[in-house]
Amino acid sequence: MEKRVYLDHGATTMVDPLVVEEMLPFFTQRYGNPSSLHEFGTEAKNALDKARERVMRLINAGLEKELVFTSGGTEADNIAIQGAAFGNMSKGKHIITSVIEHPAVKNTCKHLEKNGFEVTWLPVDQHGLIDMYELAEAIREDTTLISLMFANNEIGTVQDIFAIGALARERGVLFHTDAVQAVGKVEIDVNKLNIDLLSLSAHKMHGPKGIGALYVRKDTKLKPIIFGGGHEWGLRSSTENVPGIVGLGKAADLCRMEMPEETPRLVGLRDRLIRGVLGSGMDEVYLNGHPEKRLPNNAHFRFSYIEGEGLLLLLDAKGIAASTGSACSSTSLEPSAVLTAIGLRHDLAHGSLRCTLGRFTTQDEIDHVIKELPPIVQKLRDMSPVGKGREWFGADDDENDHDHHHELDDEDNNLARE
Ligand code: PLP
Repeated sequence: MEKRVYLDHGATTMVDPLVVEEMLPFFTQRYGNPSSLHEFGTEAKNALDKARERVMRLINAGLEKELVFTSGGTEADNIAIQGAAFGNMSKGKHIITSVIEHPAVKNTCKHLEKNGFEVTWLPVDQHGLIDMYELAEAIREDTTLISLMFANNEIGTVQDIFAIGALARERGVLFHTDAVQAVGKVEIDVNKLNIDLLSLSAHKMHGPKGIGALYVRKDTKLKPIIFGGGHEWGLRSSTENVPGIVGLGKAADLCRMEMPEETPRLVGLRDRLIRGVLGSGMDEVYLNGHPEKRLPNNAHFRFSYIEGEGLLLLLDAKGIAASTGSACSSTSLEPSAVLTAIGLRHDLAHGSLRCTLGRFTTQDEIDHVIKELPPIVQKLRDMSPVGKGREWFGADDDENDHDHHHELDDEDNNLARE
């Protein structure tokens, strides 16, 4: 059988077998409800406490009450943003975010906008970074929350979270960061970085799907958006997903222990892939995102004169799984909002490829991709109706056209590039 290479860890990851092993007893033996007052319940409650401690250690959080388990990154983002917006209305109804946020943040902010809140959407430069001066200028008396992602899920750019946190603290504004793509890959200390609210998700860090957490700094005013039995200090009612939480805890622990070796290993493989692809002799191949301030596992390319969907299909036929910046999963032909926000022309945005590496990615696999990719790109260029000299209708010749597009469509087409 053809070798299979999975380079789509930005979408989701394989659950580490050590995580599965630790979860299994919580389905069939230790299945108690943590709220129950018998031994089954106590066992489950102890497992929750242990997992909470493990996740908090990964992000250097302090007290037990500072972490709320959620059903994933999306729910954590919703509880943080809506909770802070509704919980601080006596101060104001203004929120600051960016145009490159994941739909979990973007659509939550749009929902608030429709319900009487005002949102400032910060633009980004060609590498995907916000401008600190623009952020400082955007803060007003009635600003209650800044929500900016730690690292972008498509192009991998890592924001200057230290500077953002320091500014938010100085100006007395809450700071939420969607760190779903960053947790477990880069060192995070919520205290040093002045983060008040941080979202994370297990399935991006070799844990199970459907479980995540929200870090909430002590004394942060949040209004619940889910009502029920008052679990998780009233912020996330519902019987806890004990096996999932145990899996998240183990995944967090593995990341914390392995990070000192794993992060440089990923950076080495990522850079090998980037060098291999950019140096393969193909023309007009570029790296998207920041050359240095990027996730250790993200390499995001764009190829002129081809479409990402075709590239994905031919790579898939060779057993290589990656993702693209174009709208393959959607009814819309709009390219990714992130790629247009960094100023890419639509035809270039459509020719993008995201390769995201993980714990089980090997050098052999990277070398396989470096070998297989150029002939596929060539084949597509030979076939392409948008080939050289056949530029898309409306595309101009200026390669560096960074005319920023910050349209926020209601149509969201980001499912394929979580
Ligand atoms: N935020 C970012 C940056 C993501 O990449 C994802 C992944 O899809 C999410 C939020 C949503 O996380 P989840 O799938 O756990 O809801």
